[in-house]
Amino acid sequence: MNFLPQQPLMISVEKSGPDRLLKQSFPLRSGRYSQIKTRNFEFCFNLNGEIKFIRGLTPDWPHPAEQFKRTSGNDWVYYTVGDKSGSDGIVSWMGEYYLPCLPYDSNPVWKINYASNPVVMNAMGEWSQLFGNLYMANEKGLYPHAKGLIEKILANDDQTLHQRAKKLNKIIGTRISVLPPDTRHVDYDIIPVTLADGCLYQCKFCCIKSDQKFQKRSEENILKQIADLKDHFNADIVNYHGLFLGNHDGLAAGQDLICFAAKKAYDAFGFRIRAARKPFLYLFGSISSLLNSGQTVFDQLNQLPFYTYINIGFESVDEKTLSDIGKPVKPEQVKQAFTKMIQINAAFDNIEITGNFIAGDHLSSDHDTSLADLLKNINTEKKSKGAVYLSPLKDSPKKRELLPRFYQLKKESQLPVFIYLIQRL
Ligand code: SF4
Repeated sequence: MNFLPQQPLMISVEKSGPDRLLKQSFPLRSGRYSQIKTRNFEFCFNLNGEIKFIRGLTPDWPHPAEQFKRTSGNDWVYYTVGDKSGSDGIVSWMGEYYLPCLPYDSNPVWKINYASNPVVMNAMGEWSQLFGNLYMANEKGLYPHAKGLIEKILANDDQTLHQRAKKLNKIIGTRISVLPPDTRHVDYDIIPVTLADGCLYQCKFCCIKSDQKFQKRSEENILKQIADLKDHFNADIVNYHGLFLGNHDGLAAGQDLICFAAKKAYDAFGFRIRAARKPFLYLFGSISSLLNSGQTVFDQLNQLPFYTYINIGFESVDEKTLSDIGKPVKPEQVKQAFTKMIQINAAFDNIEITGNFIAGDHLSSDHDTSLADLLKNINTEKKSKGAVYLSPLKDSPKKRELLPRFYQLKKESQLPVFIYLIQRL
């Protein structure tokens, strides 16, 4: 590989987009970042000099809005717009204008083999080439106005980025195996703090559970995580607008620990209102933790300086399906929790509860019927709040065939319905 620059680089040391993420069908970068453009590619870096986005600029690139994104867990995720970029395309089932193609085993509803496209995969080769070019440019004292940026980028080679992702897991004591679906509102860019490990149920079907029993972390442990995370996210922390208090059932940790962690993280990470939107707090909850949470829990959460999303795993309202997937709850409890979700959404301005149900092509037909019935007949008091996510089962062979059933359900539902992919941090 020739590391002598073949073409001038267009380097913007610092650029800023809108103060918070705006949902658009075209690429609009938000927050503060650095950018280097070559003739064929755009490379974006966060404020620590870590590569974050790569997008092709040539006519043979699949679509101007498609790009690679590197997550803080160091996964390269390919964002595709699919075969339709209009309102009946991906946005109608994801709620976003893109579909994240994950480079690991997940539950994709539509598998796009982006890796077979040499134009797309050339992006990674171009990134290596750019890194080499920056190395040479730095040796020769080229681009003096961007010297600081070039040095930061060079300090973040592939090995360093890999190690940083490992360090993040070490700080929080786990790898986040799945993010709440509502984190799509911040493009899955959250700062994670572990509030509790394990979960209450250990469902048979679940592919993301840990073997641990549910156990809360101590306040000291949470404070240590927050201090280390502040250091870890470093200069780029100003770009974050979302906090995830994990792991699988943060709600079960109780109001005192949730509020303690949320307030400490708010102060330490410098969260603030941006473009008239409060920062987001994300939690998972279970049917039990939702049903066991009294009025004071929601009173307290509602007063936090966050807009709080709580995502509940309902899975099914059909007894046989619940039994088949090994979820130890009864349909009556699911319905009771679902009704409570609707009531909380109507009663609290700063809390939004959403729920997940499974989808699969070899589930009992009673699963689909009972779910359709629930969504059709629920009395939603505030239609602007709450959503239902359908998560295809990992072993369901015909995932794309689920879409027509999904659309039918969505058409009849009183709540917005979207697809939920198992996406890790
Ligand atoms: S579905 Fe939720 S509650 Fe059940 S095992 Fe998985 S993480 Fe735990």
